[in-house]
Amino acid sequence: MSESRPVPEVTPETERYWEAAADGRLLLRECQDCGLTYHYPRALCPDCFSDDVAWLEAAGTGEVYSYSVARSMSGWPDDDLPLVVAYVELDEGPRMVTNVDCDPDEVAVGARVAVRFVDVDADDVAIPVFVLAGD
Ligand code: ZN
Repeated sequence: MSESRPVPEVTPETERYWEAAADGRLLLRECQDCGLTYHYPRALCPDCFSDDVAWLEAAGTGEVYSYSVARSMSGWPDDDLPLVVAYVELDEGPRMVTNVDCDPDEVAVGARVAVRFVDVDADDVAIPVFVLAGD
């Protein structure tokens, strides 16, 4: 249904993240020096620049921190528009830029959301998006 979405660039730094996503799991990174949990999965802690960072599996739940509605987007399939582009604050703390797959009239700041994974035209890659959790 959404197979023509852009395919993310997989690098050695993010390979494990994308592999887990293809497997239906959302990974975060947790700094072993300062304790920061963060997303996107960079190899160095964005706060203290430590390279002693572990992988942490997120519960995949959170809430909408902010959002906007894109009614046209270059390179994006028309069938997927309008698109709700949101900052989702995960229950573990990090915020990630993602999409909320819902009617734009139904999304709201503070709405509870849960992760889903959308397959794309690339081996072993799936994109984390969110849906309204309805609680
Ligand atoms: Zn750190």
